[in-house]
Amino acid sequence: MPNCPECDTPLDFEVDEVDEGDIVACDECGTEFEIVGTEPLELAHVDEDKLDEEDDELLDEEEEEE
Ligand SMILES: [Zn+2]
Repeated sequence: MPNCPECDTPLDFEVDEVDEGDIVACDECGTEFEIVGTEPLELAHVDEDKLDEEDDELLDEEEEEE
């Protein structure tokens, strides 16, 4: 059973129960993770604001308003 990358609590699923693209949530801290790989298991943070794939380049435009 994989551990939560955030709080190190064992996550409530088995690696062979999930597929890439599945979303799992940590019972302990509530953080959601997307399965981005299964062999080996790889988890990516799901950020509610930006459910897109990792897009480093699109961040510039929105946040400079004064
Ligand atoms: Zn956690």
